[in-house]
Amino acid sequence: MNIKKNIILLGATGSIGASSLRLLRDNREKFNLVGVSAHNNAELLSKIVNEFDVPNVVLSNPKNAKSYYGKNDLNVGFSSLIELAKINCDILISGIIGMSGLYPAFAAISVGNNLAIANKETLVSAGKIFMEKSYEKKVKILPVDSEHNAIFQCLEKNNIANVNFITLTASGGPFLNTPIENFKNIKPQDAIKHPVWKMGQKISVDSATMFNKALEIIEASVLFNIKSDKIEVTVHPEHIIHGLVHYKDGSILANLGFPDMITPLSVALNWPKRIDLNLKKLSLNNIRSLNFFEPDFKKFPGLKLGWEVIQSPHCSPVVLNASNEIAVDAFLKNIVRFTDIYNIVYETLNHYSPPIPKNIDDIINIDKIARMKSLDLIKRKFTYDD
Ligand code: NDP
Ligand code: MG
Repeated sequence: MNIKKNIILLGATGSIGASSLRLLRDNREKFNLVGVSAHNNAELLSKIVNEFDVPNVVLSNPKNAKSYYGKNDLNVGFSSLIELAKINCDILISGIIGMSGLYPAFAAISVGNNLAIANKETLVSAGKIFMEKSYEKKVKILPVDSEHNAIFQCLEKNNIANVNFITLTASGGPFLNTPIENFKNIKPQDAIKHPVWKMGQKISVDSATMFNKALEIIEASVLFNIKSDKIEVTVHPEHIIHGLVHYKDGSILANLGFPDMITPLSVALNWPKRIDLNLKKLSLNNIRSLNFFEPDFKKFPGLKLGWEVIQSPHCSPVVLNASNEIAVDAFLKNIVRFTDIYNIVYETLNHYSPPIPKNIDDIINIDKIARMKSLDLIKRKFTYDD
């Protein structure tokens, strides 16, 4: 008998939300969408509710509730989002952006829901606490971020002690071939044009600065309990290979596929089984070449911070993430320059070295202080006028 899995999708109106809905739409016999959330986009949320007849619906920002026309009742506000995450389901997908995803995802695993997580900022800031809670509650944390999903598939559970190192690939973003002299004039509209992936604005800017890969180094270290010196980053513009695990006997297991988030989402939702997605075939005979480069740390200094934050007890991943969120937001609003995103994060990390957080409340406090410090730095030093 084919028992359908009940799925809750947080961030249904975003890019991860859209890929998740594609997967669920094409596989209605396998999944029931029992809950969805959006923050502002009440119109799109209404469409989703009407298409999938979703019974539990949340708009976390109450301001736009008037625009909702879905056929099922709407709940509004942050506390409703937490209540949604606590509804018993087989897997909750977190496609919320930034630290706003932390409380709902933690609420989900605390009540025993398995978590398919794209929201890397939460894992960067609270990964250790999430992993501990998942062991305590015996729930699965299934990585959706494509590189981590790749490593997850290549890691042989019985052979973790025999892993030499892992490789995360990076597309290099839209400025891979832009001369460094032009970096200070990069505008938001250029930074959000990713050459390979179609994603939300924040992660697109992170890819352009390569802070995305710094976040992913930290994300990998917590998800796979692996030290920073065992994580390598390789620029691979075609983004066909997503991740590699190098074993001590010389074997390297790699994960390949066209860059489409539907695949990692399907792996996470069906694991350990696989389903037929009827995708275009990837034949190496049709791929003329695959390129790989060492990252350029002069152009992308933020990338190094990924390793530094894991190595140094004085550098906090919570601070790195919070400060990057503030800096990216200011860049998208044309308040700071592209190159100052790194300077703001670097200075915030140097000025604020909090103790290691013991629980979620500690993380929220550190996050708040780091945001205030970055905002203050922006006001004093980095605001520019064209
Ligand atoms: P989007 O900006 O496209 O979507 C964000 C979603 O979160 C929207 O549904 C949005 O609602 C909702 N949201 C925004 N602010 C809040 C808030 N304060 N509280 C609750 N919900 C909120 O982002 P992406 O889908 O691109 O990325 C989502 C996460 O997945 C990020 O953490 C990103 O790093 C990660 N990720 C994304 C990948 C991708 O391919 N896009 C790949 C790998 C990881 P509304 O639309 O109503 O504003
Ligand atoms: Mg990724």
